[in-house]
Amino acid sequence: MLKDQIKTLAKAYKSETIALRRHLHSNPELSFQEYKTAEFIEEKLKSFGIEKQERKANTGIVALIEGKNPGKKTIALRGDIDALPIMEQNDVSYKSLNPGVMHACGHDVHTSSLLGAAKILNEVKDHFEGTIKLIFQPGEELIPGGASLLIKENVLENPRPSGIIGQHVMSLIPVGKVGFRSGMYMASADELYITIKGKGGHGAMPETLADPVLMASHMIVALQQVVSRNASPKIPSVLSFGRVEALGATNIIPNEVKIQGTFRTLNEEWRAKAHIAMVKIAKGIVEGMGGEIDFEVRKGYPFLKNAEELTEKAKNAAKEYLGEENVEDLDIWMAAEDFSYYTQEIDGCFYRLGTRNESKGITSGVHTPTFDIDEDALEIGSGLMAYLAVNELKNNDTK
Ligand SMILES: [Zn+2]
Ligand SMILES: [Zn+2]
Repeated sequence: MLKDQIKTLAKAYKSETIALRRHLHSNPELSFQEYKTAEFIEEKLKSFGIEKQERKANTGIVALIEGKNPGKKTIALRGDIDALPIMEQNDVSYKSLNPGVMHACGHDVHTSSLLGAAKILNEVKDHFEGTIKLIFQPGEELIPGGASLLIKENVLENPRPSGIIGQHVMSLIPVGKVGFRSGMYMASADELYITIKGKGGHGAMPETLADPVLMASHMIVALQQVVSRNASPKIPSVLSFGRVEALGATNIIPNEVKIQGTFRTLNEEWRAKAHIAMVKIAKGIVEGMGGEIDFEVRKGYPFLKNAEELTEKAKNAAKEYLGEENVEDLDIWMAAEDFSYYTQEIDGCFYRLGTRNESKGITSGVHTPTFDIDEDALEIGSGLMAYLAVNELKNNDTK
C-alpha cells in the first residue's frame, strides 16, 4: 500500500530530514533575503532527481513532480522559508549562526518537511497519477507576503492546482499529533496608524487648548463600538491599540498624539466595511472636538479559509496515517498567515503540526527566542505531507 510505503520512507529519511532542518536552522535568512536558503533548496531537489524547478520572486522556488498521466490533476504543497529578526537563546548544536536572525516560527521545519516529502514523492511517482507542485515560498513574515508576490508571478498557473496544502508548527499541540479546521480559520490583520493633531499648551489653561489627549481617549473608547455594535456577532473581530504616544507632561498638553493598533477579522466584506466605519467614527469625534486626524489603515493579509471538502479529505487521510486519536480539531486562531492569499484563489487546507514535548522542556511559543521543536515532528511533517498529496490526487474528480 502506498501509505505504508510512504511511512517507511519517512522513517528511513528521518535523520536526513533532521539534518536538513538543522542546516536551515543554523543558517536563517530574513524575509525576501533567502538567497542561500533558495540555493540550498535547489541543490537538494536536484540531488533527489527533481529537475523541473523554477525561481519566482527572486528567492521562491517552484518545482514539479510528475506521476503517471501528469495532466490529470495537480495538487500544490507549500512551505515557507524565511526567518525572523530575533536573537536565538537556545543552547543547541544547531543554534543560529546569523546573530539576530532566527527560525523562531518553524519555517525551517516547514521547508525541511517539504524537502523530505519531495524526496518521498519523487521515489513513489510511478504509483500515483497527476502532478505535485512544490512551492517553497519566501517572505511569509513581512507585508506584502511572499504568497501575494508568487501569485502575481503565476505560481497557480501552468499547471493550475485544484488545491493547495500547507502546514505550520504549533507549540500547543504535542508531537505526534496534528490539527485541522474546515472553514474560517485565521484572521485578516490590518495595521492602524493614527495621528491626532490639536493645540497643546499649559495643562492649567484648558480653555486655550484643543486637547489631543482627550480626543484620543474618546476615540479609542468609541472605536470599540465597531466590534460590539457594527460587527455581526457571527464574525469574530478584534480591535486592539498597543501604542499611544502623547509626549507631554503633568502640566504640558502636547500638540499631537500618535496611536497604533491592529484590526483582525474573518470576513473580507466586513473587513472593508469596518475600515470605513473606523475612519468615520474617529474623524467625527476628533473633528467635533476641534482637532484634525490622519487615519491610515495599512492592509495586511486577508483572512484564511480552509476549503471544506479538501480539508475534510485531508483530515480523514491524516486519521488513516496517524490514527484517529492523533488528529485534533482546531479552534479559530486570530493570528494572520499569508497562506490566505492562496485560499482566496483556489481551495486550500492549512493544518497544524504538533511540535511540543513537555518532558523535554520544549514548550516555548513561536516568535520567542527559545522556540524549538521535538524533531520527531519531522517524520510526520514529511510523511504526512506526502500522503495528503497522493491521497488528494487519488480522488477521481478532475476539477
Ligand atoms: Zn511567524
Ligand atoms: Zn510562520
